[in-house]
Amino acid sequence: MDSKLVRYGPASSCIYCGSTENLTDEHVLPFGIAGNAVIFTKASCKSCAKATSSIEASVLSQTLGLFREKYGVPTRHPKRRTGRAQRWVVSRSDTGKITPLNRKVEGDVRDLPAAYLALHLPPAKLLAAENANSEAKIWMWHNTTAEELTLLQKNQALHLGKFRPSDMYRFLAKIAHGIAVGELGTEVFSPSLTGIILGTDEDYPRCIGGLIELEPPDPEQLHVWNVGWARTPDGRGYAIVRLRMYALLGAPTYLIIAGVAR
Ligand SMILES: [Zn+2]
Repeated sequence: MDSKLVRYGPASSCIYCGSTENLTDEHVLPFGIAGNAVIFTKASCKSCAKATSSIEASVLSQTLGLFREKYGVPTRHPKRRTGRAQRWVVSRSDTGKITPLNRKVEGDVRDLPAAYLALHLPPAKLLAAENANSEAKIWMWHNTTAEELTLLQKNQALHLGKFRPSDMYRFLAKIAHGIAVGELGTEVFSPSLTGIILGTDEDYPRCIGGLIELEPPDPEQLHVWNVGWARTPDGRGYAIVRLRMYALLGAPTYLIIAGVAR
């Protein structure tokens, strides 16, 4: 499935907490990534909308804000885009140590570098072989031009975004949960991601993982996802969301356990 328009719902209760009060439409793929491509009508109560909005703000604005502005990704805050931006300059030692310098580079957004940052994850613990022991890493795409590099001296770099892994995991959980509930409904599986989304469960790697082997960029696809089932050796069936945002950049593929088969 590609990023064509998808509509789920209406849900009869909040897909995160079960409340039936004040339900609002939910962007399953956040507006700031995919516009109105995937909407679940009447799927989130106000309180859960507040929780998920704060995760999305961290990722979309602090981590990906510069990337999104430079490449014209949709925004709910068009007035904040002035076409100009600043990047803080940092120095980078041979050992990789980053030290902020008291200097900014300012210019037209189109002339400044920006990067797409994502988690590059090993398989979810529930799906991995017992001795699988890979660590989560940060994956980055950029296409910095020679002009952009002239902004910098040797051993300098630009600060292109804050990266909070916990918010990234929760961002992925939120998307995967919405896709799984939208595609399958909750009669066939018992959701496993709501605690992560609402902040009561911090064991992210248990259910949120991905392919260590990066797939080649897919120039035809922006965001790709589908839902399937996997059975583990202990005989349990899991609903798995396969999600790849920015497939055209070669970004990592996630395999996220949305829940256990009922
Ligand atoms: Zn709720």
